[in-house]
Amino acid sequence: MTNVLDDRDLYGGLIRMHILHHANEETIYGQGMIEELRRHGYAIGPGTMYPLLHGLEKKGYLLAKRELHGSRYRQVYRITGTGRRVLLVSRRRVQELFGEMFEDSAKNSDPTPTLPSKKHTENKRNSRKAFS
Ligand SMILES: [Zn+2]
Repeated sequence: MTNVLDDRDLYGGLIRMHILHHANEETIYGQGMIEELRRHGYAIGPGTMYPLLHGLEKKGYLLAKRELHGSRYRQVYRITGTGRRVLLVSRRRVQELFGEMFEDSAKNSDPTPTLPSKKHTENKRNSRKAFS
């Protein structure tokens, strides 16, 4: 049976988007991202993280570089122009999905907390502006 907390097909995209999101803000490295994702509830080891980073590099979304940290080299990654474009598109899609998931639960008077709808509309407007 699939472990619902570790379904790679389902969460793999979210994890990759998360990596790209952080690579867009700063230079990232494997161990740092493992800790960051753990903070968000993803238990990912180096055996998963490094192939993920390598895969994103192969796609041209990340650029790898070796940096000296103390006496050891560390492989660091930053986002590329293509990675940034992909991130922009996925951000819009996540927003779309987020809206649908939480708007619907509000309609069905589900007790799940939702963001105020006003803020959601503002976000939609802003993202539209950014893509026009
Ligand atoms: Zn994060």
